[in-house]
Amino acid sequence: MIDKYAVLKKYFGYNSFRKGQQEIIDSILGGRDVLAVMPTGAGKSLCYQIPALMLRGITLVVSPLISLMQDQVRILKASGVPAAYLNSSLTPAQIRLATERAAQGWYKIIYVAPERLMSENFIEFAVHADISMVAVDEAHCISMWGHEFRPGYRKISEFVNKLPFRPVIAAFTATADGKVRYDISKMLCLRNYFQYSSGFDRPELYFSAVCMDNGERDFEHDKGLNFLISYIKGHKEESGIVYCVTRGQTQAVYEALAEEDIRSCIYHAGIDNQTRKQIQEDFTFDRVKVIIATNAFGMGIDKPDIRYVINYGMPPTIEDYYQQAGRAGRDGQPADCILLYDNKGYMLIKNSFILRPREDDEMSPEDRRKYISVQLSKLSKMYRYAFSDKICLRKQILEYFGEKAPKKCNNCSVCRKISLIQVQKTTVDYDKELYEKLRSHIKILSIRSGLPVYAIASYSVLQEIAKAKPKNMSELRKIKGLSEEKLRRYGQDIIDITSKYK
Ligand code: ADP
Ligand code: MG
Repeated sequence: MIDKYAVLKKYFGYNSFRKGQQEIIDSILGGRDVLAVMPTGAGKSLCYQIPALMLRGITLVVSPLISLMQDQVRILKASGVPAAYLNSSLTPAQIRLATERAAQGWYKIIYVAPERLMSENFIEFAVHADISMVAVDEAHCISMWGHEFRPGYRKISEFVNKLPFRPVIAAFTATADGKVRYDISKMLCLRNYFQYSSGFDRPELYFSAVCMDNGERDFEHDKGLNFLISYIKGHKEESGIVYCVTRGQTQAVYEALAEEDIRSCIYHAGIDNQTRKQIQEDFTFDRVKVIIATNAFGMGIDKPDIRYVINYGMPPTIEDYYQQAGRAGRDGQPADCILLYDNKGYMLIKNSFILRPREDDEMSPEDRRKYISVQLSKLSKMYRYAFSDKICLRKQILEYFGEKAPKKCNNCSVCRKISLIQVQKTTVDYDKELYEKLRSHIKILSIRSGLPVYAIASYSVLQEIAKAKPKNMSELRKIKGLSEEKLRRYGQDIIDITSKYK
């Protein structure tokens, strides 16, 4: 068996593991179940992708969103990993073909939507296949106490029970308090599992809370919009998301930006699938820089080079907030997370979302009461986050997730005592001209290959290259983030450019 370091280098181009990855991988390889709680961007995917490539049989990855599966499979394939997905975006004939190929052993990793697990054809395949592992991504979706409950997730263990051999089960999530963790372990029937919970901190993220109230009610929203406009104008080259609470707000923000000649796209659940797919792709490929979205623009977003997330109005919980904000800076480079808040937004969540009377309620009155009181207490913590200008924002988040934190982080608007954004991006000392050359070359490759820029080489990798100026393959190989497959495909092109620079 080749070792995990070799797999890491060969398929993903990295030299070292991040915190927690090794222990989780070792546990899976040793046949032990896992429950891993790690923040967005920590690198959970590698924790199941690497063992998947090393274990004998097939790994099934249960994932809640079609777009998420497509992105991951596209990137895996580009790195030479035999992977596929099965979900409702495929026609029955395509599903049949993919299932046949799977049965013939074409794939090491298969992403499946939870509903697929109950389909007869799929069960027929799975029972005769050699399933080594079931990885459950976004595992908090299984719990009603989480914030993104998906009933389909509850079928996972029923499916596993049908298999002739019990595979290793590994569950991953970014947001789970004690109650949700307990739910996950029970409902997935995890056995003697290894629980890993890493620090929640994302030091690269700058947190800021900016009040939109200015005493005069009529101007409330203008203040938030003015802020948005000037911020986005100051960050034209960067990709960002503006989260709104309602669809109506997305429209208002969109129009305000359009009046200022800022191009953006609206994304929410009321927009048809085809258009949503297009928008997501345009964003991934940097054809549109700003997305104005509701929380429907969510888990599928794996774009690592998002430089800012602005919440126009507070979300209902810190979990929601941290998950949305956490979509920024996944490449580990500095990014801004700004919450624009006001009292009106707080009342909106309370009255229109939490206390709203429901017809066709799926919960019993007793459960509903419990649920409401949990949600109100979560909202009150969100309120405190926004309105308290004395307590370090990072500390509030970390303590919310049960972690100890120092009094001051020096990288939030409370600690820095500023509400205007002063972004402090670290500057790598690289050759700017060479970097631009590389960048435009990668853009051409991106168009030609149909892969997003970051899937070929992220901007931080390009900066590293523009700094090191490799003269040959072995020098280029030392740069972190280029897999064997990428070196093979693009290496020579890159060297042709860099070797001209001294
Ligand atoms: P998560 O699912 O935990 O939110 P991802 O699995 O999407 O995070 O990983 C986020 C980013 O971190 C990806 O771009 C991934 O390639 C990168 N990454 C993961 N592990 C490593 C590592 N060991 N070294 C460098 N980068 C890594
Ligand atoms: Mg993930």
